[in-house]
Amino acid sequence: MTPHIAVLGAGISGLSIAYALEQAGMRVTLFEANERVGGPLRSSRIEGYLVEHGPHTLFQRSAALASLLSELGLDDAIVDARESASRRYVVRYGRPLVLPQSPAAFLKSELLSTSAKLRLLAEPLIPGFDREGVDESLANFVERRLGREVLDYLLDPFVGGTYAGDPRQMSARHTFGMLKELEDEAGSLVLGAIKRKLQSPDSDTPPAKKRLLSFTGGLQTLTDALASKLNGELKLGAPVTGLRRDEGSWRVLYRRGKSNAGVSVDAVVSTLPSYAVADLRLKGVTPPEPALKRVAKITFAPCTLVSTGFKRGDVAHPLDGFGVLAPRVEEMHTLGSLFVSSMFPERAPEGRVNLTTFVGGARQPELALLDDDAVLELVKFDLNRILGLRAEPEFVHISRWERAIPQFEVGHQLVLDAYSEIEAAMPGVFFAGNTRDTVALPALLDARHAHAARVTDFLHHA
Ligand SMILES: Cc1cc2nc3c(=O)[nH]c(=O)nc-3n(C[C@H](O)[C@H](O)[C@H](O)COP(=O)(O)OP(=O)(O)OC[C@H]3O[C@@H](n4cnc5c(N)ncnc54)[C@H](O)[C@@H]3O)c2cc1C
Repeated sequence: MTPHIAVLGAGISGLSIAYALEQAGMRVTLFEANERVGGPLRSSRIEGYLVEHGPHTLFQRSAALASLLSELGLDDAIVDARESASRRYVVRYGRPLVLPQSPAAFLKSELLSTSAKLRLLAEPLIPGFDREGVDESLANFVERRLGREVLDYLLDPFVGGTYAGDPRQMSARHTFGMLKELEDEAGSLVLGAIKRKLQSPDSDTPPAKKRLLSFTGGLQTLTDALASKLNGELKLGAPVTGLRRDEGSWRVLYRRGKSNAGVSVDAVVSTLPSYAVADLRLKGVTPPEPALKRVAKITFAPCTLVSTGFKRGDVAHPLDGFGVLAPRVEEMHTLGSLFVSSMFPERAPEGRVNLTTFVGGARQPELALLDDDAVLELVKFDLNRILGLRAEPEFVHISRWERAIPQFEVGHQLVLDAYSEIEAAMPGVFFAGNTRDTVALPALLDARHAHAARVTDFLHHA
């Protein structure tokens, strides 16, 4: 008999895990509360502008991701970010300064003061962290190793823009684990990186080409392609409400319109957000209450994305790059803006530009929740301050994510342990997705194999 697996949630994690399970010969039923797949990967063409409601880019740095995209038939749909997208701006002194990309540019840059540059060069002399087992905040780690200005003008805007996060709350080990490992191995980031380079064996295979990409129709193309490859049943508008242990199998309980329904399966992979996991009614099993409570407490940063369209001549800045990030210390109302139409072709009508500005995050959650008019005023104020506006936007679209990105805060190991404890009490139920694995799209896609292997292993021993 072909094993039947339920996958809960049809975001990028659920879709890619379902795909991997089918490739491993299993039958899959995928449950999704919404009427569409993809979670935040959503792209719409409105008035000639391509609006990304969530993520804008996919960073392909592994050969594995390249082959997945080919397998999904997406090679012809890929659009690479223009070369100029490697230029990124960070606000300092109230204006956008180019983020230096070479040692020479770094020495000349105004982004860090001379004393901050000297402090950075002293990194190998800074002693390692002697409090073993203590989960240090990202802000503490970076300030300790690289100095205050690196924290304020490099790290803080970066994590604000990518994780909508606050480095003072985030765990260094669980967000920038590689840097922590370098310090643990060599007592210094620079010495650790040199040591690794010297120890890494020469490889005959050239490294995979790194690409920052999207698709002609936007990032939603990726999740649509995954969904179209699935053979099993995709239940949309089917929120899962509970799981019941029935002798040797699991019954997935879900709502179908106004009625309740159930499907029996051999195993379950949940990619539900942590708050939805905590809401599940569990029958026939009793996972430890503290573990369930810990998972329920994962915090999410809210984020509001404001897409604006202007006539090219109405924005003074050349918009010659990826975008601009706003450090907390610059006291702005926005986290940063992406120069969407500079990055990719056909993102705006002829002679127009398309910008996306991020508001809120863990830094200023209350701003993400303001009404549309108020949030647009803040965006226009900041855009005018740093890019120079000569007219009102001719196009505006607002996308709201009240629980945008889960935050891996100090103490995150306890959350991971809690997930493991819940799994131990529910044999055949596995947890995946961005509240357990990581938030980055490429890593979530890569994780599909490990989750499919866990299911295979379970069925083998059941
Ligand atoms: C605004 C924004 C910008 C981002 N930018 C980037 C970026 O540039 N690069 C990057 O790598 N990452 C980015 N991310 C992060 C990335 O998009 C997410 O981490 C990723 O999409 C999460 O995928 P997932 O499948 O794990 O979770 P989700 O996509 O959240 O999927 C979970 C699914 O479960 C469904 N669900 C919830 N409850 C139930 C229920 N009871 N029953 C059934 N289904 C249910 C939900 O509707 C959802 O579809 C961004 C995220 C946001 C919000």
